[in-house]
Amino acid sequence: ATTAADSGEIRRTRDVHLGKSLSISYDAPLHIVRGFGPYLYDVNGRRYLDTVNNVAHVGHEHPRVVRAGQRQMGILNTNTRYLHENITALAKELLATMPPELSVVHFVNSGSEANELALRMARTWRGHTDMIAVEVGYHGNTGAVIDVSSYKFDGRGGQGVPPNTQIVPIPDTYRGLYRGNDPQAGSKYAAHLDEVIDRIGQADRAVAGFICESILSCGGQIELPAGYLREAYRKVRAAGGLCIADEVQVGFGRVGSHFWGFELQGVVPDIVTMGKPMGNGHPLAAVVCRPEVAEAFANGMEYFNTFGGNPVSCAIGRAVLQVIREEGLQENALNTGAYLRQGLLELQNRYEIIGDVRGPGFFQGIELVRHRETLTPAAAETTYIANRMRQLGILMSTDGPLHNVLKIKPPICFGRREVDFLIDTLDQVLQEDYLTT
Ligand code: PMP
Repeated sequence: ATTAADSGEIRRTRDVHLGKSLSISYDAPLHIVRGFGPYLYDVNGRRYLDTVNNVAHVGHEHPRVVRAGQRQMGILNTNTRYLHENITALAKELLATMPPELSVVHFVNSGSEANELALRMARTWRGHTDMIAVEVGYHGNTGAVIDVSSYKFDGRGGQGVPPNTQIVPIPDTYRGLYRGNDPQAGSKYAAHLDEVIDRIGQADRAVAGFICESILSCGGQIELPAGYLREAYRKVRAAGGLCIADEVQVGFGRVGSHFWGFELQGVVPDIVTMGKPMGNGHPLAAVVCRPEVAEAFANGMEYFNTFGGNPVSCAIGRAVLQVIREEGLQENALNTGAYLRQGLLELQNRYEIIGDVRGPGFFQGIELVRHRETLTPAAAETTYIANRMRQLGILMSTDGPLHNVLKIKPPICFGRREVDFLIDTLDQVLQEDYLTT
């Protein structure tokens, strides 16, 4: 096992021999060696509460998930060209969580790969070329998905919007084009799809599809306003395109009231992509679609994926679904998530800097501003808080286009004790001189 004495060497080797565009959290990086439940342990034995990791969905190294993987790894691992019950059992158990219209699964290994496949499906559907995506959306790291990820192509090192992508405004009711409790906000934001659909038509091209995260994550935990997806989907379908819900961040019960984030909008997508929590850290992801979409995609070219849907990954995926069910974790996301929200709202009453508290279940965010009227982003303050929280034993992430959103998306086994620790520590940090002078 490594010790603290090895941290420097690991860092140096990493700097020289690993990809140069990798980032690392914190100026003094953490050297984490173990995880359990919502906690991580560093090389010195120090414990940190993890409010960041929505991949370790049912808890870091959950024993039942670990055992399921170990057991199957000792028996057989192959690909999908043989019959194996794990793949069909996982497919059935996954589909049982979904509306009946969605009945075909393709297993892959990452969220990026899932979205890559979803884009291919959308383009195969009618042979259309153009994708519509949302400002500050993120869908993964492959070439085609970067091309629909404004978070990347509009950010540092990006080349701007590519030719076959059309971007619609971020549906942010806190600082976007339409704000506040306007009941029409959803349809006003969706109306921007008309413009881009017209633009595509004028260029003699057609809409292949629309991809949207069910809650924008890199965009800063932006909940879609009511009616947004319903109207957007109607417009996209009328133009001959397919509607893709990216559930990579929010799926699998995290939002509490529902198993899938798109259900918050009362829609049924044509394609749903999922990843991160699906294998609780093991690389497992999927594309679920309507049967007619799968038929159209099967145009003669085989879809083969070496690792996707292997018996080990599927055993792990089944264990994750079982733990969510048997430990009541979706209900926990609902109830303990509401308790967390209550705590955050109380802090907002006491601290001017908390401009907005948003997000359902265990997918929340607080947006920090210098003035509630001007909404001047408190980016340096946000970084300060995240660093101080780390010193006090709590890991938090910051995001959003203005770097002023603290995101809270922990393993969904997070309990009231953890919420109390988080709220009390935030309360303490929010009183510090740096923030009050
Ligand atoms: N979609 C969303 C919404 C994501 O947040 C991410 C990853 N952060 C991806 C897709 C890509 O997933 P992966 O990193 O597993 O390729």
